[in-house]
Amino acid sequence: MNGLKVVGIVLGAAVILAIGLLIGHFGIPRDPKWVKELAQDLDEKFINQFMNEVDNKRIEDNLRILSNKPHYATSAGDEELVQLMLSRWKDPEFGLDDARDERYHVFLSFPDAANPNTVKVLTQNGSNPFTAELTEEKLTDDQKDPDILQPFLAFAPNGSVQGKLVFANEGKVSDFEYLAKLIDLNGTIAIVRYGGTGRVNKAINAAKFGVIGVIIYTDPKDINDGKSNASDTYPNSWYLPPSGVERGSFKENFGDQLTPYYPAKEFTYRIPESEIKGISHIPAQPIGFADARQLICELNGAQAPDNWQGSLGCTYNIGPGFKQNRFDNSDFVQVNVYNKRIIKPSSNVMGIIRGAVEPDRYVLYGNHRDSWVHGAIDPSSGTAVMLEITRVLGTKLKQGKWRPRRSIIFGSWGAEEFGLIGSTEFAEEYYSKLRDRTVAYINVDISVFANATLRVQGTPPAQSVVFTASKQVKTPSNSLTVYDNWKNHSNRTSPQYGVIPQIGSLGVGSDFAPFIHYLGITCMDIAYTYDRRVTSARIYPAYHTAFDTFNYTAKYIDPGFFSHQTVARTAGNVLLRLSDSLILPLGVKDYVETLEGYYSRAESFQTNLSKYNISLEPLKTEINRYKRAAEDLEEKIKNLKKSDKSPYNIRRINDQLMLLERAFINHLAFPDKLYFSHVLWASRSSSVATFPGLADAYQTAVESNLKQHWDLVHHHLTIAIQAVSNAASTLEDVTKI
Ligand SMILES: [Zn+2]
Repeated sequence: MNGLKVVGIVLGAAVILAIGLLIGHFGIPRDPKWVKELAQDLDEKFINQFMNEVDNKRIEDNLRILSNKPHYATSAGDEELVQLMLSRWKDPEFGLDDARDERYHVFLSFPDAANPNTVKVLTQNGSNPFTAELTEEKLTDDQKDPDILQPFLAFAPNGSVQGKLVFANEGKVSDFEYLAKLIDLNGTIAIVRYGGTGRVNKAINAAKFGVIGVIIYTDPKDINDGKSNASDTYPNSWYLPPSGVERGSFKENFGDQLTPYYPAKEFTYRIPESEIKGISHIPAQPIGFADARQLICELNGAQAPDNWQGSLGCTYNIGPGFKQNRFDNSDFVQVNVYNKRIIKPSSNVMGIIRGAVEPDRYVLYGNHRDSWVHGAIDPSSGTAVMLEITRVLGTKLKQGKWRPRRSIIFGSWGAEEFGLIGSTEFAEEYYSKLRDRTVAYINVDISVFANATLRVQGTPPAQSVVFTASKQVKTPSNSLTVYDNWKNHSNRTSPQYGVIPQIGSLGVGSDFAPFIHYLGITCMDIAYTYDRRVTSARIYPAYHTAFDTFNYTAKYIDPGFFSHQTVARTAGNVLLRLSDSLILPLGVKDYVETLEGYYSRAESFQTNLSKYNISLEPLKTEINRYKRAAEDLEEKIKNLKKSDKSPYNIRRINDQLMLLERAFINHLAFPDKLYFSHVLWASRSSSVATFPGLADAYQTAVESNLKQHWDLVHHHLTIAIQAVSNAASTLEDVTKI
């Protein structure tokens, strides 16, 4: 073969190869249909359409139906609402893909209608000059409903106790310490006001000082901006009437008390009642401030400190016992509690929209369904919003105009008021699936406390998506964006963003608690709230009373339901961004400020730590590593080229974003705290806002100065370092190990 022939063959082959490549390049469509489908991304036009279609009138109609009857957990009213949720979510024209109810057999506590709880004054000869009202005043037809649950504290133990009355302010440990220096508390009954510490903690604290019974009331100074005359209160204003009584759960821990960590099925092992932790062992009963006035204004003894004085229109003395006036100094106060503890079936209702591309990734959105009485604001304002969001989305779904990229699970939780029971049982039953596949949880419980501004609580990865959504929604008055208005009401200066709206942290106040604290799912709670320049009310005044009604809401909380509409637009916008965006809109870099803030506050421990050879340096190193990893990942996402958008690559990045919150979970970190497993957000008793385990261990060690307690500080510092290290490695290049 001569050289020329060889060249000819090579050239010919090259031409054929080039033609082949060209055919390959142009002949096959570059983006087959399935590639396009896998790249389904957020549609801003759809979000706008959604927001335009959210209807304030329909929210008002929802609320009217939802709050028509008292619907405490497992009541006939609650069961009716289970059917209502199912029928809405199964509707052929605006329903979801699927809806079902799931029952748990949960441990509850109710007052005995035949044997009502009482608070009485008794004389030595057995006469009874005073008994607190058993019911709230019937100011409108709503209070006449026979199904109203009489005022009580769920899980408060039964008993009949009597003793001299003392006034113990908010029932904090410091309040009882103050009293104990002045008077003998043994065998007394303490009257305390709401606020300052948790409901049940007032009685747990009291018992440690020898108090044998507790009466709780709402002071008009704390809830009514000082207004206590009936003419200044509902139905003449939004303030609490003198007969209004705040009901509530009387225990520290959430979830079903007999089945911690396991769903409360019929077959589930139940611990004995005697092993329940965090409950009161002395009887307690709530009363209205009209009755509290009759007791407190008659107290004998030294004048209470200035900051203990309230707005009952008299000087508050501490007792013990009454002055010689309306009552006799030797008179006793008697507290009689006859609550019934019972296991009953309670339903969660689940509504499901199947994702088009990633049906195995879930965005959760929920609210509880049960109330204490009519519960127009708590919780029905949130459910009225949820039903309007599902109506708009369900309609699009049924018309074939939209299907989210990921699955959406709506939850109407049961028995929240008894301690977040329905949501906790759900989190326990679906633990593995939820842990592995849940992107975020949005909670909208009370959607409108008042109509001034947005209020959001959440973990840092939720910040950016909430900001984006709130910039796209106008306030009800249409003058500003929700974002700008929020920034005017509540803001902070961020090292990286400057002045931004303040996002609060998540405690245990609603159903987000099991998702953030136990499962480590990024959570947020969205509502509209007060103008703090206008009112200092601890919460909206009708909270947990028989006055939290449709009429109260429509007249005083949100006339026209425009704030409800604003919350529906904002929360729905967030939901769509989380469920539809190709790349999850979770800002992992936003955890850096939290971590650096925690570190700088922990630095105040360093001098003492050095004495025990404990160094914070490794923590600093891991935080810096986290910062680099978060910045690198966000940079990588920003610069994603089309060629990087293979479904595997997208899924890999999204998993990193989704699983970041999970990296802070350590189920062994807080063995004494039920459910708390998030190393950054677990409950904390120390006032130093740093890693809660480290802060509390440090406080104990400083107080005791025992070697074993300094060892515990070292242990908790190690837990913190490892959690940040886990988080950093979640964000670093996961193809390398
Ligand atoms: Zn609620």
